[in-house]
Amino acid sequence: MRRPLVAGNWKMNGSRERVRALVNGIQAGIGSVERAEVAVCPPFVYIPQVAELLAGSPIALGAQNVCDHAEEGAYTGEIAGSMLAELGCRYVIVGHSERRNLYGESDELVARRFAAARKAGLVPILCVGELLEERERGETEAVVARQLDAVLALEGAAAFRDAVIAYEPVWAIGTGRTATPEQAQEVHAFIRARLAVHDPGVAEAARILYGGSVKGSNAADLFAQPDIDGGLIGGASLKADEFLTICRAA
Ligand code: PEP
Repeated sequence: MRRPLVAGNWKMNGSRERVRALVNGIQAGIGSVERAEVAVCPPFVYIPQVAELLAGSPIALGAQNVCDHAEEGAYTGEIAGSMLAELGCRYVIVGHSERRNLYGESDELVARRFAAARKAGLVPILCVGELLEERERGETEAVVARQLDAVLALEGAAAFRDAVIAYEPVWAIGTGRTATPEQAQEVHAFIRARLAVHDPGVAEAARILYGGSVKGSNAADLFAQPDIDGGLIGGASLKADEFLTICRAA
């Protein structure tokens, strides 16, 4: 039985004061979340503050990206996995569509970031998903397969035993336009089947999250699908009540 995971991706939002209020708000209601594992991924600079606020809490900490080089060195602007682990991070998002599309991160670079995360003992949350024009051209499966295969080629299927995949159709991110539960389930089942070709046990155990305009009002229907094991939540993770409603739905 896969334990659902709901992870909040705060993106580039926050201030020390708003971070404190948000974490305290989530903490206050976390007791009402029965089954799901909950994680928050603040901007790098707030990770120490959130780690302190979360001390003793069941809420896990994550980051939004990680350097593809495991060793320290001359990589200006990058953050090593070992640094994130030292600060108490358990998860790290890799290959978010904003990284791929706004900052030009290739499938190969994302795969290297995934590998570096694992090397540091972090659990990567690998984001995959198609652009609207790719969906309209009928290329959804080909795009998701290509993104997944880059990681499989570098790290092998066993790496997914302790990793998480997030299917995030790019046309649904921050747009208010959610994939229907059926559309999402179809792609989640495709991802699981693709893993199963390599290792059926890993495929069965892997958690596959859905992300893209998940809200309190649509979360339960999405999470009811057999291959949807929780969510990666952007905008709605910045409001404690809304985020908690999503966590309870999982
Ligand atoms: C995301 O950025 O991962 C995301 C899913 O954003 P939103 O929930 O705002 O669509």
